[in-house]
Amino acid sequence: MLSKDEVIEDLNDVCNQTKARWLCYDDIHTIDFKKDAELFISEMARLGYSKRDLLLLHKIELSYTGGAEIVHEQEACGSGYTIRSKKNKNQLVVLSGFETDFDKYTIYHECGHLYQFKYNMFNINHQNEYNTYLVETHANTFATMVMLLKADNVLEYKKRKLYRMANGVSFANDERKELIYYVSLPIELALMREIRKKGRLKTKEEFSKHGILDYKKIAFYTAQLVKKHCFSQEEFEKIKNKEITSKYEKLKRKAKAYRILGETYWNYIKSKCLRRIKRHNKINQKREHLVIEKIQPLPQTDKETEIINAACLLDTYQIRMIYEYDIWEAIGKLKKADETLNIPDEIKSDSKKINEAEETFKKMHRIYQKHKDNKLFQELFEKIEFIDTRDEVWQLKEKKAKEIERQNFRFGLSNER
Ligand SMILES: [Zn+2]
Repeated sequence: MLSKDEVIEDLNDVCNQTKARWLCYDDIHTIDFKKDAELFISEMARLGYSKRDLLLLHKIELSYTGGAEIVHEQEACGSGYTIRSKKNKNQLVVLSGFETDFDKYTIYHECGHLYQFKYNMFNINHQNEYNTYLVETHANTFATMVMLLKADNVLEYKKRKLYRMANGVSFANDERKELIYYVSLPIELALMREIRKKGRLKTKEEFSKHGILDYKKIAFYTAQLVKKHCFSQEEFEKIKNKEITSKYEKLKRKAKAYRILGETYWNYIKSKCLRRIKRHNKINQKREHLVIEKIQPLPQTDKETEIINAACLLDTYQIRMIYEYDIWEAIGKLKKADETLNIPDEIKSDSKKINEAEETFKKMHRIYQKHKDNKLFQELFEKIEFIDTRDEVWQLKEKKAKEIERQNFRFGLSNER
């Protein structure tokens, strides 16, 4: 069995060699969402990504109560990604976890990408679709070779081989267009043939250095395999356009014959993921609860509290307009007293949503009209107009809540006396 410690050791080793760092969603997706996002945002800032970039990349989302949250999409099912620095050669790997074989496979897949970037394999700096196909199939083949060579015995080796074949088959059978980049089955089968020819233990010895696997060597070797066994650019273009090539036809026939294996594989993966999905759902419920709590207005004691409440509510409406109706310019229209809403195409056919959006927009106008002449409101309004300053308004609300709490406490004490 491949332990978590061993995988982490390997990951650190590869990161050291390739100027990379790593983060794991499972460790950062805890109860303290603000802290999680802060850690992620600060790691991304090191690579030159601003909050705004991360929003556009859909890596973070603005929270309904100030701050930002990491977007957790598929990480429950063992996905991962590598992101490259904008300003230097550093990289960051973001992973789901270390539990399942699928997670471990993903980790080595990302390690493959780290070497590609470090040594500019496949001309990785000039991304196009064919390059994407080459780098993804290489990362797959790299991970497969590592997992196969790490097998402790023949039985484990055979199990992992079958596992990779099943994965390859299910990808080859999947008709979704974007998955064509990951169709690495022909290359991986070639790899398995090579290992069989040389012998499993002999191959392991050849690719080890002082008893541990030489990942750099594996990266270059698998790159050679990719170049030899991948679809040519011409074939790739044809396959993409759903034209038939003999190589692809052969692969499809094989994949069809092994269909059951592929399906069994996915059911197995899903069952393995279930526990994590449940955990994530639980965390999300807690998160929603927290948002509901924070959204509550402060008990109104004075004008200042009233204004803070109004500004925070306006901000919540703004975020709602963005995420629920994809309307980004609502807040900007308030100042101009512009009451027409541009409904995006996606919700144009949904009259219920349009009504909701218009209602929310009206509420925003009412709040703005009521308080626009107040000096504090103007100050806060300017802050909620920008993603980098809107947090300050929510911090003010938190401060005020504490103040009120303290006052109530003192009031309670003096009443007891
Ligand atoms: Zn990849």
